[in-house]
Amino acid sequence: MPRRTGRQRAPQASPARGAAKQGSRGAERTGVAGEGPPSPRTTNRAGRARRPPPRVADAARAGCGGSSHPPEARVVTGPRRPAGPAIRRAHETMSAFYGPLRWWPAETPFEVALGAILTQNTAWRRVEAAIAGLRSHGLLEARTLATVPEGALAEHLRPAGTFRVKARYVRAFLEWLLGRYGGDLGAALRGDSAAKREELLALRGIGRETADSILLYAGGHPVFVVDAYTRRIFSRHGVVGGREDYDEIRRLFEAALPRDAAVYNELHAQIVMTGKDFCRPRSPRCESCPLSVLPFAASAPAAPGRPPQRRSR
Ligand code: SF4
Repeated sequence: MPRRTGRQRAPQASPARGAAKQGSRGAERTGVAGEGPPSPRTTNRAGRARRPPPRVADAARAGCGGSSHPPEARVVTGPRRPAGPAIRRAHETMSAFYGPLRWWPAETPFEVALGAILTQNTAWRRVEAAIAGLRSHGLLEARTLATVPEGALAEHLRPAGTFRVKARYVRAFLEWLLGRYGGDLGAALRGDSAAKREELLALRGIGRETADSILLYAGGHPVFVVDAYTRRIFSRHGVVGGREDYDEIRRLFEAALPRDAAVYNELHAQIVMTGKDFCRPRSPRCESCPLSVLPFAASAPAAPGRPPQRRSR
């Protein structure tokens, strides 16, 4: 597992969220709960105000929520579009817009794993509050945290919501980590990605989105994380239907890109940022969104700020 060389730059939006094991693994819920990831980035790394790329400015002038599309924003009808080119173009466009994001917002891989468990069905700011509380009590270490009784642990996790359930999930994770790997998360996550994924999925409270977040962001495995933002954005652009199985979408993205953890890391972060900043459930801000350069799905629901449906030419 790659070691971090200091605190990673905190992103401006939450990591994968909404993953929850709801009874069965296949029922992991990826809904965007709470208020969503924190503040949008409005400046680039040099502190200058961000501007949409020229083509997006064209889109705004063309009136995405009005009567015409930007020239590039074709509406797609019929079968889904080939995923590979669309995913790669989306990645390139968001890379140009956001610059390097370098997720996850944590100081250690253990903190990443803890955050991935706690962020299920809750807003990231609440997870941050819970983790800050644990840090202030010197509990952000597996062995130390494992000494905390479950009731007290639940109280520490209260800010993250559903705290009693999450305390049980954290305890299960700690028992696995300490019992099998002596608390060494690096050792625990080292090895074949698929095998490690199965190991994590066998733990109580860890579904596919959570497992993949841990593998990618704490273990450096080339595993793409699918979340509600991924489904929403790419179904609105006709790349996925939106209701596919989690692993079907994951494989689609992994096949479209080089098998590289750094690439998956950036793309997932970009998707979360775009989902939070622009692609709202009911009021998408297409007029200023970098992804307005992509063709839209004809079946995408009408909403303020979204391009109108139009027959493909
Ligand atoms: S806000 Fe509009 S342009 Fe942006 S990702 Fe969502 S549907 Fe696409």
